[in-house]
Amino acid sequence: MSLSLSPHRQLGELLCDATRQILWPLATNRSDNQLQCRVGHGQATYHRYDPRHSLHQITYGVRMIEAKQQGASAAAWLSTREISRRRYFAGTISPLNLLAHTCCHEFAHLLQQLDGKRFRGSVHNRHFYSILDNLHAQGYGERVQSYLAERAQRQGLPLSDQRLEMPDPASARAHWQVGDKVYFGEGQGHRVGHILRVNRKTCTVACPALHGQLRYRVPLTMLRREEESA
Ligand SMILES: [Zn+2]
Repeated sequence: MSLSLSPHRQLGELLCDATRQILWPLATNRSDNQLQCRVGHGQATYHRYDPRHSLHQITYGVRMIEAKQQGASAAAWLSTREISRRRYFAGTISPLNLLAHTCCHEFAHLLQQLDGKRFRGSVHNRHFYSILDNLHAQGYGERVQSYLAERAQRQGLPLSDQRLEMPDPASARAHWQVGDKVYFGEGQGHRVGHILRVNRKTCTVACPALHGQLRYRVPLTMLRREEESA
């Protein structure tokens, strides 16, 4: 049987290796938990904890990896905003930095879980961002970045460190589809829903409410994808 894996899947395996080798040692002296990393088929990228087996699972979606190779498809992801707003990697958005940051983001959820600070409905809370800021400040972002760059080069996998051109978000209409899980708003106004219709400059989004659902027309510029979605 042939085992030829797509380049994006191979990059996913590198994300798993980087997480195990560079980040996981930060947690092993704090607990006897186990870690399992895997590459998923879709976009979904998340950390999950199974208390029965004391097992952390981190999944990197192959379609997330693919989406972060180009500006138009990378623009709406939370990791793109985080690099740009929090000035990780001096604010440079490249495929390499996006993927290195994704490892740090998911691992920050693991540390957040160990701290007992992951709450339903408030996953990306202040505690989460102080962990993530610390990981970057302590140089773990850069260590993951060099690990990925070196391994990708050795295996002949394309992983660009060049700054991505970010499109005008309104022209990124083609990247939204009916059924996509999306987020918008901040703080108390933070909402999650599914796209019902893609309009010219907005999307109609259905959000679960106390009774049934509420519909919003959300400008494309305000929509985002979060790694934990899909
Ligand atoms: Zn997250």
